[in-house]
Order: sequence, then structure tokens, then C-alpha cells
Amino acid sequence: YQSKARGGQPIVFSAAMRKEAQRRLRLETELTRAIEQQQFVVHYQPVWRLDSKQLVGFEALVRWNHPERGLLMPVQFIEVMEETKQILELDRWVMQHACRQFAHWQKKYPRMSEISISVNLSSEWFSRQNSLDIINTTLKQSGLPAKSLRLEITERSLLGQHEQATIILHQIRRLGVRLAMDDFGTGYSSLNYLHRLPLDIVKIDRSFTSQIHVEQRAKDVVQAIVHLASALNMKVNAEGIDNIQQIEILREMGCDFGQGFQLGKPMPSERVPQFVSGKTAAADAV
Ligand code: C2E
Ligand code: MG
Ligand code: MG
Ligand code: MG
Repeated sequence: YQSKARGGQPIVFSAAMRKEAQRRLRLETELTRAIEQQQFVVHYQPVWRLDSKQLVGFEALVRWNHPERGLLMPVQFIEVMEETKQILELDRWVMQHACRQFAHWQKKYPRMSEISISVNLSSEWFSRQNSLDIINTTLKQSGLPAKSLRLEITERSLLGQHEQATIILHQIRRLGVRLAMDDFGTGYSSLNYLHRLPLDIVKIDRSFTSQIHVEQRAKDVVQAIVHLASALNMKVNAEGIDNIQQIEILREMGCDFGQGFQLGKPMPSERVPQFVSGKTAAADAV
């Protein structure tokens, strides 16, 4: 394979590149079919209040039940879906699915009225025209109270579209939906805009959480984020907690919420009601 680059330099496509291009193309085709045939499933990871050890919510995390390759994780398909914009369709499906599921659970298990569901939104979300309508319609159709829904956005998703995004976020917040900044500290964080965003929660990325019990600097960073959030009237949720030491340190620092393998791995929907009522082993670990 040979092709001309813009400068007239020939580019040689190696066999490996050709194979990769073919793999991508096949993946895209498969993903289109996956959306049509609803091959996606949502798993739920518990979120806890660290001081009182209460279960406060779940985060919806998508998986792809691939007909031949089995259950695939987001890292294996989200990036491609962002590039092709298929992610918009997927995010909407996950939101609708999780809201319906939660509305159903809240009716059946009164305890779950106090528990919220968090859904991740991709960076494409703020460039779409009707994002507010979709959220509004989803809430109405599912019957889920707005206060039970949390939407997670990332710093990256605001890049280059701060003003547009800020307007939409304020509109979403006015519906009564809570907003969380996901993976905080890993993207382009500017104090200049953070305080203007109507955020309820800042989520500390796993790359910080995982180091706090071994590295003083990681601990200092997390403490600074906790202080910052508190000054801005926001709550803090640490993600990726995978041992008891981390829980202890975070609680002492005044971190409000936490999630991670130590506190409960993402689980299929069938296990959620039993998890909520049974106060399984994970509850004792908090
Ligand atoms: P995220 O939103 O930061 O989600 C947390 C990820 O960390 C999840 O991975 C979760 O399983 C994992 N995790 C939680 N606790 C631990 C821990 O203690 N140790 C380790 N090693 N990992 C932990 P997952 O499910 O593979 O999702 C990865 C990312 O994919 C998510 O990161 C999110 O950015 C994206 N994603 C997932 N579902 C959706 C979706 O429906 N829409 C969009 N746009 N993105 C999604
Ligand atoms: Mg998230
Ligand atoms: Mg996160
Ligand atoms: Mg993360």
C-alpha cells in the first residue's frame, strides 16, 4: 500500500497498519449492530458515604456482551465509539436503561428511594443540540425523580466548549439532576472555570487514590482537592479504593464518598437488590 502525504512524501502502509485499519472497520460495523440488537448491559458499582458507612448510590458502567468475544469492558470500545459519535446513542441507551431500572427498584424496594444512580456522559454530549431534552424526556418516561440521577462529566469534555457546556450544565442542574466532575485532576483543570460550574461532586481519580497510602505527595494532592471542593461547596467522591488503609486515610481527610473494588465491584443488575438489602461483606469493609 502506498499513499501520498500532504507534503508529497510517500507513506508506506505496513501490513500491521492495514490489519489495524481492518480491525477498526470491523469493530465499527459490529458496534452498529450491537446498538441495533441491544448487546450492551449495564453493571452497577456501589458508592458509600465514608463516615456513616451508608450506601448512597451506584454508578452505571456499560459492558458489551459480544456474541463471540464475551463480555467486553469500556476500554475495548468507548474510544472508537467517541470517534464515530456512536457514543451519543450508547450514552442515551445507558441513561434510559439505568433510569428505568432504578425507577422500578425504587417502587419495589422503598429503601432504594434514598439511593441515586450515576451515569457517565461522553465529551460529545455538549456539542449535541438536544442534550437537555433527552435528559428531561428520560426522567419523565422512566418516572425516576430528578434528584435520584447524577451525571458524570469529565474536564476533557469541557475543553474548547466551556461556555456552551456551562450553560447546558446549569440547565441540567435546574431540572434537579446532580452533577459530578469525573476523573478530577487528570485533565485540564482550571480554577478559573471550576468555581463557575454548577457541580455537586468532584470525583478523585483512581491514579491519586491508589497512591495515598504509599506516597505523601499523592495524599497532599487529595487533601488539597478535599479543601478546594469544600470551599466551593462541593462533595468529594474518591474512586478506585482498593484497600482498607485508603478508606481510613480518606475518611480522616474528610472525603465524603468512596467507591472501589474494596467496597464493591461493579455487579450485574440481578445482584443489586440482594446487595442493597443484604448488606453484604462489602458493607463491613467500609
Ligand atoms: P470511570 O467513570 O472513571 O469509572 C470507573 C472505572 O474504574 C470503572 O471501569 C470501574 O470498574 C473501575 N474501578 C472501580 N473501582 C476500581 C478499583 O478499585 N480498582 C480498579 N483497578 N478499577 C476500579 P470500567 O467499568 O472499565 O469503565 C472505564 C471507563 O469507561 C469509565 O471510567 C468511564 O469513563 C467509561 N464508561 C463506562 N461506562 C460508560 C458509559 O455508559 N458512557 C460513557 N460515555 N463512558 C462510560
Ligand atoms: Mg464515572
Ligand atoms: Mg471516574
Ligand atoms: Mg476514572
